[in-house]
Amino acid sequence: MHEFALATDIIETVSTSVAPDLSKLLGIDIEVGLFSGVVADSLDFGLKTILADKNLPDVKINITEVPTIARCECGNDYSLKEIFENCSLCHSFNRKIISGMDVVIESVELSEE
Ligand SMILES: [Zn+2]
Repeated sequence: MHEFALATDIIETVSTSVAPDLSKLLGIDIEVGLFSGVVADSLDFGLKTILADKNLPDVKINITEVPTIARCECGNDYSLKEIFENCSLCHSFNRKIISGMDVVIESVELSEE
């Protein structure tokens, strides 16, 4: 259900920001962070359902799952396999998550016509 609401948001964002005429939409590339809490398959299903409903079943949906990256206070960037993982170099827990916690519309492909 969460993914379906998110899929609705994504289509709305795409139509308001880049493709007011959704019939020109050819494809959407989306990155799903490992710790975003979103199941890529469910999001894919939600998007395809909405697009089919809008009579746009040919829009290509490309979802890439991206690792969650943390930047440690020592400057080391490392990917997290679990949320409470410390720095592999200095073992500090003082880090900032820099990517992989959310869902990003990476790019949108539109027809030239
Ligand atoms: Zn470190």
